[in-house]
Amino acid sequence: MDYASFFADSLSSLHEEGRYRVFANLERVSGKHPKAMYRDPLTGQSREITVWCSNDYLGMGQNKTVQQAMAEAALDQGAGVGGTRNISGTNRLHVELERELADLHGKEAGLIFTSGYVSNLAALGTLAANLKDCVVLSDRLNHASMIEAMRWSKAEKIIFEHNDMADLESKLRRLDPERPKIIAFESCYSMEGDFAPIGTICDLAEKYNALTYLDEVHAVGLYGLHGGGVSERDQQAHRIDVIEGTLAKAFGCMGGYIAANSDIVDFVRSYASAFIFTTALPPSLTAGALQAVRHLKDSQQERLKLQERAAALKSKLRAAQLPFMMSESHIVPVLVGDARRCREASDILLEDHNIYVQPINYPTVPRGTERLRFTPGPLHTDEDMDNLVEALKATWERLSLSAAA
Ligand code: PLP
Repeated sequence: MDYASFFADSLSSLHEEGRYRVFANLERVSGKHPKAMYRDPLTGQSREITVWCSNDYLGMGQNKTVQQAMAEAALDQGAGVGGTRNISGTNRLHVELERELADLHGKEAGLIFTSGYVSNLAALGTLAANLKDCVVLSDRLNHASMIEAMRWSKAEKIIFEHNDMADLESKLRRLDPERPKIIAFESCYSMEGDFAPIGTICDLAEKYNALTYLDEVHAVGLYGLHGGGVSERDQQAHRIDVIEGTLAKAFGCMGGYIAANSDIVDFVRSYASAFIFTTALPPSLTAGALQAVRHLKDSQQERLKLQERAAALKSKLRAAQLPFMMSESHIVPVLVGDARRCREASDILLEDHNIYVQPINYPTVPRGTERLRFTPGPLHTDEDMDNLVEALKATWERLSLSAAA
């Protein structure tokens, strides 16, 4: 085996396809979000740019009370917890955060993990692996973490077309009514910005006796009167068996969780290797997330402003005839349709206009649907938006990209 050629060839094929990932070296500056300092890899110089693709959707990562809670917890309790949840790593903050998250979703119990990715891997994977002969019905656009969970579980996976309820029902109908089934889906799809028909999926789950597993990663904190996500907004949370979320996006910190009835949570807690055999979240992150969840349970201001800003951006893009993909949510994708040109557009925006938006290419989205995914937030100003639209118009002209149909 020629190991050296294997690695070099694999990397050069990514370069050839325009899919090689380049990380922008950014330094966020407290109080400045969505501005950040970008370090140019060639000159080593830093300059201020506007970030248009942050998943710190509400700027809670720089909320003063969250920062304060994190700093105090680190000073009071130390940097890490020094163990897994089972072996010396559980503290008061974990317990309080789990209670708070259960309450947020109207569930009996909550369980926190080191990330949203791990929570999907651990919870969905463990359920699918342990329910005997389980089959998972998975929306075609489900996130990599759910796909990995299903692969790891070795359970049968049946993909239904994205948000296509007729397709889901035809697949459910063909299955043995006695066979354990999980319908796995997202509430707000991160790359399209569209919502799942949660109520209809719950109707089908009840009709065909399936469990429902809902990833609310791009919706918690953002939708519903208390930030309980789209399932809260649509008054469907009580019908969902497992709600999964992240502490890293609207809540601005890091970590993931599930909320469900006590037995399901206790089952995952007791059987999921990715929960059991890893060090628990540190006090700083747990305290920060707890503060962010509590803040967004009460405060509507950030959610309302987010929706107003997203609508403003869509209206400016429409007026400029830029091909944004119509979404009902706060996520605003603009179609490019080619990996190389998507990368080029992103480079031009950064180099010439100090605008940072990461290109989204295969395998995150299907080939031919490569896009720039904008996430306007409460702190993007009208001026930021006007600058963005002018920069996009210039980039579209320079690369001869298609305008909106
Ligand atoms: N689920 C979805 C739909 C996601 O988009 C992501 C991450 O972007 C995750 C789960 C993982 O969440 P985390 O970033 O907290 O690991």
